Amino acid sequence: MATTAAAGAGTNQEDVRRHNLATALGHVHRTGRLSRADLTALMRLNRSTIGGLVTELESLGLAEQIKSTGTRVGAGRPSVDVIVGTKAYVLAVDVRVDGLTVARVGLGGVVQSRATGPAPTGHDPEATADSIVDLTRLVRKEVEPGGVLVGVAVGVPGMVRSADGMVRLAPNLGWREVDFGTLLRDRLDLDDRPALGNDADLGAIAEHQRGAGVGINDLVYLSGEVGVGAGIVVGGRLLGGSDGYAGEIGHLPFDHGGRPCHCGSRGCWETVIGAPAIAEAVGCPVDRIPALGDFLDGVDEASPALREVGHQVGRGLASIVNLFNPRVIVLGGYLRSLHPLVADDVWAGMAEQALFAPQQMVQIALPGLGGDAVLLGAAELAFAGLLADPVGRLAVASAVGG
Ligand SMILES: [Zn+2]
Repeated sequence: MATTAAAGAGTNQEDVRRHNLATALGHVHRTGRLSRADLTALMRLNRSTIGGLVTELESLGLAEQIKSTGTRVGAGRPSVDVIVGTKAYVLAVDVRVDGLTVARVGLGGVVQSRATGPAPTGHDPEATADSIVDLTRLVRKEVEPGGVLVGVAVGVPGMVRSADGMVRLAPNLGWREVDFGTLLRDRLDLDDRPALGNDADLGAIAEHQRGAGVGINDLVYLSGEVGVGAGIVVGGRLLGGSDGYAGEIGHLPFDHGGRPCHCGSRGCWETVIGAPAIAEAVGCPVDRIPALGDFLDGVDEASPALREVGHQVGRGLASIVNLFNPRVIVLGGYLRSLHPLVADDVWAGMAEQALFAPQQMVQIALPGLGGDAVLLGAAELAFAGLLADPVGRLAVASAVGG
């Protein structure tokens, strides 16, 4: 997360200016729209310096200034709002077991265009990359003239090595040691490998920045798809672990001697609460799992089997509560559709095993971003380069033809 500090970094005037430009863009990107007065207050710089920064962002196509629509108390010059510009965009990719989504996303987290497709049979990495290329073509069709691609990032349901984006293991895709970034780079004809991230980590980043966790520094985003993973934000920062693999909560030993898990073990939490378990409880055929959300939305009252899944969700949440003392746990993926049906059972299961003190303040929430948390988290990852150095990144991206 960008700091709100004013000039501080940098060794000379040019460094200071670029740092301030990045900070200003960060504020505009996070809020989507804010008054120039608020930007001035946030950055603790004088008005003319802010005016210069905003004008430069405007000339780069990264911001626009418009007259404020809000009523202004007292006399004085008309208030001006700063909104995001439309020149820069990223490609965000969400690879799920049950399908693929590619979106063109602008500053401010604005989804400009999206395309979805089925997951290729067997989740073959090369076929998956080919499908992503097809979807990318669709979302780039109507890019505004002058639009510049400034980054590409991909969320995958597996363990991604933070150093180089290698997918070490995505058990439910059957991927082991897949250099998916290189596959995509070559097919999309990019100069750099796209950034890769774990789906739950990206969901946590997006919900923290724009969703149910805004202003909350300790939260857990639970991605409940075919597998289950957690993105954990502690003290405002994502918990990565030493190599980026932290948060594989779906493989918590849960049901001793239980069903085999794709990770090779047995009785992991996700064998009890993952999409196949929910599908079984709700009578959704396994081959219809991509439509499981619709199935759940059509349920009026939870069956005993579905309530039991809810109870087991709660028991697992108790471990999260006891370990991390989060203020909010966001339930993403199919858990988003499941929770309203079994909320009492989830809470009862959690209360059974969570310690009193950390449970006292915890809230269970649905994603503020609906089903887009992972996709928008991937967009954040893709925008990182531009937000760190707007002038530099834009120059490089424009040179390679957007
Ligand atoms: Zn497992």
